[in-house]
Amino acid sequence: MRLPLIAALTLTLGGCVASYPAPPPMPIPAPPGSPQAAAQTFLQVVAAVEPVAEELCRTQGAVRTCDFRIVVDDRPGQPPNAFQTLDSRGRPVLGFTLALIADAQNADELAFVMGHEAAHHIAGHIARREDQAVAGALVAGVLAQAGGLSPDEVRAAQDLGAEVAARSYSREFELEADALGAQIALIAGFDPVRGTGFFDRLPDPGDRFLGSHPPNAERKAVVAATVRQMQGY
Ligand SMILES: [Zn+2]
Repeated sequence: MRLPLIAALTLTLGGCVASYPAPPPMPIPAPPGSPQAAAQTFLQVVAAVEPVAEELCRTQGAVRTCDFRIVVDDRPGQPPNAFQTLDSRGRPVLGFTLALIADAQNADELAFVMGHEAAHHIAGHIARREDQAVAGALVAGVLAQAGGLSPDEVRAAQDLGAEVAARSYSREFELEADALGAQIALIAGFDPVRGTGFFDRLPDPGDRFLGSHPPNAERKAVVAATVRQMQGY
């Protein structure tokens, strides 16, 4: 696409008396709030956050693979969401839906979410969550047997135990990922406290017993404390 344009410009300039060096190509500024502007911000955040997350993973991580693959989930109609998983080769994947990228109000929010998801991997949460769900099921099964329940009731208690264990541990994991994610975002040059503005637009899960996420106020407090600690006051 560029070649015909350059050829056309050369032809036009060729007719002028004086010739000027061609100006450097100007990046077209995307209108604020447009999907293009959101995409540009996202790419800037990836460029800054990914190397910091990988370095922290290599030096302090509980896992072996630290070569993150960052993907955009561009299936239409997906809600704002970010996730982390492993691909078939065991490489860590950080995924972001288009709606999340568009919904972010600034680069600090994207950097904090990216740091948070990377932190889940760095801290080895996937493997730990599975271990803890099994441990929770065993404990609940033993307690149910002690209470003289039928085999079906024991199984139901085991399922509930696994679920409660996984959810309560996932609250702990969320706070751990918030703290480590705040570190990553701060080192990468962003403001994680401003980044937690994201929580203001999420429904607060409150502190219900089975809530898998801690209350937003608790998450913000953890991030603020982490930043204060890192800045030494
Ligand atoms: Zn999380």
